[in-house]
Amino acid sequence: MSTGTLYTVSAPSGAGKTSLVHALVESSSTLRVSVSHTTRPMRPGETDGVDYHFVEKAEFAAMLERTEFLEHAQVFGNLYGTSQRWVEEQLAAGIDVILEIDWQGAQQVKRLRPDTLAIFILPPSRLTLLQRLTGRGQDDAATINDRMAKAVEEMSHYIESDYLVVNQDFDRALADLQAIVRSQRLVTDKQRLNLAGLLQQLFD
Ligand code: 5GP
Repeated sequence: MSTGTLYTVSAPSGAGKTSLVHALVESSSTLRVSVSHTTRPMRPGETDGVDYHFVEKAEFAAMLERTEFLEHAQVFGNLYGTSQRWVEEQLAAGIDVILEIDWQGAQQVKRLRPDTLAIFILPPSRLTLLQRLTGRGQDDAATINDRMAKAVEEMSHYIESDYLVVNQDFDRALADLQAIVRSQRLVTDKQRLNLAGLLQQLFD
């Protein structure tokens, strides 16, 4: 059996990344998304251990000290990190792993594991992004401008990715993500291990 493939998926908030990754993972039994550790407070509707492992700053610092993170970064004032051990275990078991992380984390992972495939999700237009960031219209102009500036900063790193997916139509974007994962499973180096029995029989 071949080892799994590691993917990073990055996007500005408002691009629909979390819903797309959720649907992608639901559609495949051999693909899992890593649950990050964060010091950010839990939001309504979130569950500890499902959306994130919510930890105190001291615990995060201790994990960092013990080099338990594959990558970590400060995003919007909070700390986020990916458990190295969990990722390694999945990959060794032949499971593909998705890290839903920001551009700083994606850069670190690519440096450590150059075979990682980086996917970037873009919104279909600036206007759509603005509408998605405006939410229910309860925020003032300064807050929205700040969110937009952060989104543009994140988006500017699209050039560092291997694949670019535009989320204009949800189903189409999901099919694009599925195509990336599927094609990767057909790479000859991986198939040589997965199809060892067939290849032996064919050349007997
Ligand atoms: P949120 O707090 O809104 O869920 O996420 C804020 C940002 O942090 C998003 O861009 C998200 O992708 C990123 N993020 C979430 N987990 C991690 C992680 O483990 N590492 C890094 N580098 N970024 C993360």
